[in-house]
Amino acid sequence: MSDVIQLLPDAIANQIAAGEVVQRPASVVKELIENSIDASANHICVAVKDAGKALIQISDNGTGMSETDARMSFERHATSKLRSAEDIYALHTLGFRGEALASIAAVAQVEMVTRTQDQEFGSCLEMEGSSFRGCEPVAAEIGTSISVKNLFFNVPARRTFLKSNSVEMRHVIDEFFRVALARPDVSFEFYQNDSLSYNLAKGKLSRRIAEIFGDRYRRQILSCQEETPAIKIYGYIGKPEHAKRTRGEQFFFINQRFIKSSYLNHAVMSAYEAMLPENSFPFYTLFLEIDPSEIDVNVHPTKTEIKLVDERTVYAIVRAAVKRALGTNLVSPSLDEGQQENHFSILGRGDARPSATERDFSSKPSTSSGKGGYRQQSALRKVDTSQWESLYQQPQEGSYFDFDEATSSENRPAGHDDEAALTFQSAANRMPSTFFEESGQGSSEHPFQIHLSYVFSQVKSGMMIIDQQAAHERILYEQYALALEKRSGVSQQSLFPQTLVLSAPDISIVEELSAEISALGFDFTIFGQNTLVINGVPTDIRSGQEKEIFEGLIEQYKHFQSDLSGNRKESVARSIARRMAIKKGQKLDPTEMSTLIDRLFGCANSDYTPDGRKTYYILELDQISEFFK
Ligand code: ADP
Ligand code: MG
Repeated sequence: MSDVIQLLPDAIANQIAAGEVVQRPASVVKELIENSIDASANHICVAVKDAGKALIQISDNGTGMSETDARMSFERHATSKLRSAEDIYALHTLGFRGEALASIAAVAQVEMVTRTQDQEFGSCLEMEGSSFRGCEPVAAEIGTSISVKNLFFNVPARRTFLKSNSVEMRHVIDEFFRVALARPDVSFEFYQNDSLSYNLAKGKLSRRIAEIFGDRYRRQILSCQEETPAIKIYGYIGKPEHAKRTRGEQFFFINQRFIKSSYLNHAVMSAYEAMLPENSFPFYTLFLEIDPSEIDVNVHPTKTEIKLVDERTVYAIVRAAVKRALGTNLVSPSLDEGQQENHFSILGRGDARPSATERDFSSKPSTSSGKGGYRQQSALRKVDTSQWESLYQQPQEGSYFDFDEATSSENRPAGHDDEAALTFQSAANRMPSTFFEESGQGSSEHPFQIHLSYVFSQVKSGMMIIDQQAAHERILYEQYALALEKRSGVSQQSLFPQTLVLSAPDISIVEELSAEISALGFDFTIFGQNTLVINGVPTDIRSGQEKEIFEGLIEQYKHFQSDLSGNRKESVARSIARRMAIKKGQKLDPTEMSTLIDRLFGCANSDYTPDGRKTYYILELDQISEFFK
């Protein structure tokens, strides 16, 4: 056979490289602004049309290029920023790979006008799909202006993968904000379809933040500073009460380069500890200055990932700095604290931040305190344990705990027997026996509980972590929904009827829901405008509890009613499930844990609580092994 291997022509090699560097218009914006900053510009003008699909133009007042350099700059691996491999570890520029211009020119029509201080005329150079189209002298200001037109004009597949203009524009703005925040000492103008959207003057970081996010941010942020011989931190963090529901406004810069790091994000979040409401994200813009020899930015072509030589120290210092800014750093932080939090980040992959509960429990040595420790906790938390037992009652004849009905064949998704095809992603609606290690019993083996909140169980592909409260909510919700549907709630007459005095609006809620509440097994009569007498309760509710459950039900119903569009049965089922579910802080014995798991996966939808919180999370084996690489 004759030889078959050939070198790829430059145009094709560039187009392939462009796949990594130029993913969308926003990537072009990022690379070009970074080039301007590397060229020492202190004023940069960005203009985009059609979300960057038609035009991206970046003009700067930086050093500019000679004609030869301008032509060279479009060659692959052509850079003025590196001379030797060691230079990567002493970088003071954002670029160094010499790939951006070559990649951009491979997938667009590019025009560059550039002039240096000691040239009388500038050069205007045109490129199209990696081919040189011409160069001529032009009158120009000192600096560089690059126009990128018709991105992906020669790669139709990539063009069709672009999202709508509003989505692509969001990405462009995100990149713009990142550089603009990184360099408050540079002024920026940003034009969108010929209208000026941002005009950012040079100034302090706090002013830049206010210009980008709004003036009110001046009152919502706290200065954060820390300096050690190894690292310097400065920037601003949001006051906890202004945390948002989305995590958009969180920025880390290492040596003025925007980076993504779930590890350092975790350091910040853990410093806020219990100060944040659940699922809320504080603002932060934090700058870290670290000796370039301590970091490796050459992890990915987009250079937003970074390797730190001494991650743990950086984690501990970031956490301490944020704590201090929040005024909560009463004890000086030790590295141990950082390491302990690291444990959490492993479990949650940066998503699960330690909740107040975890924090409280983690400060108690669980083994040495033993039962006493737990008792102390439960006293503090006033956990209502009495409801718990009902979860494990054997199904009674005719009672709405009869789960066999809920999981009867018509509720099971097709393909139930197809064990071979099972993966965890698709396992949501299947029975647990296909899920767990072969244990003979078709159930989880040796589940255990941590921090009295989460149940861990080994599964085929790794480790399953169940949020006990969320899981129980799902179980109860399906149970009550079924009872409501079948009107199968069984009532048990109370020895001593309970009288409840309610407000008139609450009584009217009870009237409105009387059919549903009775269907669950409540037996009650309304007297006058304010009084309710409870004669009987569902069999799984202990006497003495009825008042509390009833009030809780009304309260939760009011809460859900506001975000549900009027399905009463669903609201009632959700309300009572929420009220009755075990909470964090509740100790479970092994049988209870196994039952919880079995019943969760007996649910029609085991993945989420009725209001969309996840009930369990699978930590895959390869994720685990990744931690140790
Ligand atoms: P890198 O930034 O990794 O060096 P690029 O392909 O982005 O690679 O740019 C290639 C070279 O072109 C840079 O090293 C720089 O010398 C020059 N260059 C690019 N943009 C500008 C600019 N706006 N002003 C001056 N020089 C520039
Ligand atoms: Mg560059």
